[in-house]
Amino acid sequence: MAYDEQNIFARILRGELPAIKVYEDDQVLAFMDIMPQADGHTLVIPKTPAVTLLDLPADAAAYTIQVVQKVAKAIEVGLDAQGIVLMQLSGAAAGQTVPHVHFHLIPTSVHQLGKHAAQMGDQEKIKAQAEKIKAAL
Ligand code: 5GP
Repeated sequence: MAYDEQNIFARILRGELPAIKVYEDDQVLAFMDIMPQADGHTLVIPKTPAVTLLDLPADAAAYTIQVVQKVAKAIEVGLDAQGIVLMQLSGAAAGQTVPHVHFHLIPTSVHQLGKHAAQMGDQEKIKAQAEKIKAAL
């Protein structure tokens, strides 16, 4: 599938849309999910334009997963998470709604996941969670 430069995450990466960011470097951005499936739901995205994990060059995938681990540790410490669900949807058939590859870090149990991309979270509450994650990074 061709990469759509106008997808929401591409626009966030270009600074055209706001995001509550927790980590950024030259290759990766991590920010809070706007419709969290649990408190602390965070997204980690490579800056490389790729629709799915299958399209992502292996070196970018390898680096991104290192940042996924780093942010997961900060979620564990900052939010006192007892467990974290790591989710990655590749393809609309899997339920992917934003066509830029990303990893979900959701501090909850798989048995307690909220509905996917269904309900806007309280942005002030999300900002407070982001501050705790950033402080633990
Ligand atoms: P996917 O369905 O592609 O695996 O996940 C996309 C995720 O992006 C969903 O969890 C959804 O809540 C989140 N999302 C959709 N639009 C926005 C947005 O504009 N900003 C942020 N921060 N998250 C978004």
